[in-house]
Amino acid sequence: MAKIDDYIPIVGESIIEDLRLISNRLKGKVIQHINSTSVGGGVAEILNNMVPLLKEIGVDARWDLIKGGEQFFNVTKKFHNALHGKPEEIDKKDFDIFMETSENNIKEVSTYGDIVFVHDPQPIALVEKKADNKWVWRCHIDVSNPNSKVWNFIKNFVVKYDSTVFSAPSFSRALPVRQFLISPSIDPLSDKNKELPQDVISGVLKKYGLTQDKPIVLQVSRFDRLKDPLGVIEAYKQVKKYIDCQLVLAGGAAADDPEGIKVFEEVKEKAKTDGDIHILLLPQNDIDINALQSAATVIVQKSLKEGFGLTVAEALWKGKPVVASNVGGIPLQIKHKYSGLLCHSIQGASFAIKQLLNSPGYAKKLGENGKQHIKNNFLITRHMRDYMLLFLSLYYDEDVIYL
Ligand code: UDP
Repeated sequence: MAKIDDYIPIVGESIIEDLRLISNRLKGKVIQHINSTSVGGGVAEILNNMVPLLKEIGVDARWDLIKGGEQFFNVTKKFHNALHGKPEEIDKKDFDIFMETSENNIKEVSTYGDIVFVHDPQPIALVEKKADNKWVWRCHIDVSNPNSKVWNFIKNFVVKYDSTVFSAPSFSRALPVRQFLISPSIDPLSDKNKELPQDVISGVLKKYGLTQDKPIVLQVSRFDRLKDPLGVIEAYKQVKKYIDCQLVLAGGAAADDPEGIKVFEEVKEKAKTDGDIHILLLPQNDIDINALQSAATVIVQKSLKEGFGLTVAEALWKGKPVVASNVGGIPLQIKHKYSGLLCHSIQGASFAIKQLLNSPGYAKKLGENGKQHIKNNFLITRHMRDYMLLFLSLYYDEDVIYL
């Protein structure tokens, strides 16, 4: 695991000095992150990288999980989709299931932090335990156009927090509590993003039956309808009429996402007649994902809805040309025709993929610009700084923050 000084060659010494300086101000405070899964999905990805680094610079960061059964996670998945604006049938029974598990967690989970930092809707009701500590709700979802029934239910809890955090201005809603806008980040030195030797990359390609003499089009994502894996296959089929290439859809299932296996089966069914489509159900294997991203010719993220979209940042950090939907946090990362290509449809995605496969010089330039953009804005060191400043601000009046 990387140490904080290992980041100096990437971001410079002064950034790391700043982190140490700010962390000094948090001495004696326990920061307790709480979410619903330790593996799978962007939140777990970030916490796995960030919690050890915060500890190293002297912040007493901890990480706890709530518990829930299949029924609870079916409901929270529906909530997740509905908050993103996807039509979902939600009735009183769903709210009752949510409350029943939440009440168990309220009894079982100790909220000992000086700052309790709750991620996403699953653990949101823990705020009923709020005492004289500080509570922050960190929303990773784009709730700009939510199902109002679910949002109104969730909002009853949100208003009890001291502060909220959203990934981008456009994701948030009018609320009577303070809001902070902090975008997520990737860790450039994690197994997912560090530079890999060519022989490791070749070994992974061989393991999954991929050849190195045909372009690889890749999407890495949980098997989730909002990531539109079937749409990616359609786009690939249109490209394939003109350019011989391979498609890789790689992903696993998050522990709090019960739909994954069903979507995986549908995707396999749609892909079964084409030997150049590789559907990989990966266990949690960061090196393999890194190798696939590093080997890809074009990386796609054709989501219908998206939070920030960490996979886009991961792809750009590897200098790859990316074709991605203009949704959620993706346009923060990709400026169309400068640091990647944005698309709005299957046809748009296939057109953009063809364009990049046909113009390697242009593809390379987009990848280089994308990498620089991620370096300037979306690395873990910037994210740690923003979070620590947020923690400090909780102890000061709205307008006065002393550092
Ligand atoms: N990821 C992974 N294995 C998989 C699928 C995804 O490690 O099988 C990682 C991916 O590399 C990224 C994160 O999970 O770091 C997904 O975050 P993102 O914001 O793209 O989407 P989310 O799953 O949170 O909707």
